[in-house]
Amino acid sequence: MSVNENPISLIKEESKIAIISHMSPDGDSIGSILGLGLFLMNISKDVNIYIDEKLPSRYDFLPGSQFLKVYKDDNKKFDFCFVLDCGDADRLGHNQSILSKSSTIINIDHHISNTNFGDVNIINTNMSSTCELIFSLLKNYINKLNKDIATCLYMGILTDTGNFIYDNTTANTHKAVSELMEYNIDINIIVQNLYQNKSLNSIRFLGHVLNNFKILFNGKAALVVVTQELLKEYDIELDEIDGVINYVRDIEGVEIAILLKEITDDEVKISFRSKYDIDVNDLAKRFNGGGHKKAAGARVKGNIGTVENNIINQLKLDLGW
Ligand code: 5GP
Ligand code: MN
Repeated sequence: MSVNENPISLIKEESKIAIISHMSPDGDSIGSILGLGLFLMNISKDVNIYIDEKLPSRYDFLPGSQFLKVYKDDNKKFDFCFVLDCGDADRLGHNQSILSKSSTIINIDHHISNTNFGDVNIINTNMSSTCELIFSLLKNYINKLNKDIATCLYMGILTDTGNFIYDNTTANTHKAVSELMEYNIDINIIVQNLYQNKSLNSIRFLGHVLNNFKILFNGKAALVVVTQELLKEYDIELDEIDGVINYVRDIEGVEIAILLKEITDDEVKISFRSKYDIDVNDLAKRFNGGGHKKAAGARVKGNIGTVENNIINQLKLDLGW
């Protein structure tokens, strides 16, 4: 297929389709798999949307969430596997085994670090989000779009642009959003579910974190460390703490924010955020991760204290701090 062709045109009524994204799903990954999934259900009778683990409950309200399944290896084969918002196949978690069961892998993403692991690769780093990119592909089929699909895509654009404040937000992003809003999507419902329905415990936890994070390198870096013990103390789930990192990035003088989440005794999820010119995608690559210039992450093996030291040393080396 030529790079200019729209992969949607490959899909026929009898096509067997899988749609997947990365582990620890975020708004853009969920919005894109649901938006594309609902759209393709208009064409094919065999559309399977797989999520790596449980959907975080704040996304339950989304149209199509009832179709999300956890993949069970049952030897089902697929004609097409759409992999959305996922820079490298290792981030697929349990769903990675679907790739070898699929004749054609269609990789659609906006990460600069994407490894082009698909048979078809539609990578556009100028897009704010995979949802914006999906919308650009679906616009040729305007009569098959509807409020439900628009709701999912809008939600992904909203979250990946930090509610339209990050510099990945372009004129094209706003045009896409304007067109999606024509479908009369209920923005109140989206905002209330995503941002105004937090557990009391998660807000108390935020209070703790904001009293205990570390400031490094004369105020240029802020580091938040979240251990399993702390999550237990506040009785919250790992997926409830996304967003914590933005608070410390917002501090005057802070150029880079780092969040370390202890997944197990031997595995740590790293998130990096930068404010100005530091390219955290480069930094994340040092830890076999990736992402974007101003938001990137990695998963590494090791004890959380050791990982913290390694990151501090890497910052000294890379930034001369
Ligand atoms: P977050 O810190 O919110 O998990 O991720 C920030 C950005 O980096 C997102 O675009 C996300 O997709 C990407 N990212 C996070 N973790 C990884 C990782 O382990 N590998 C790669 N390649 N990208 C990641
Ligand atoms: Mn994204």
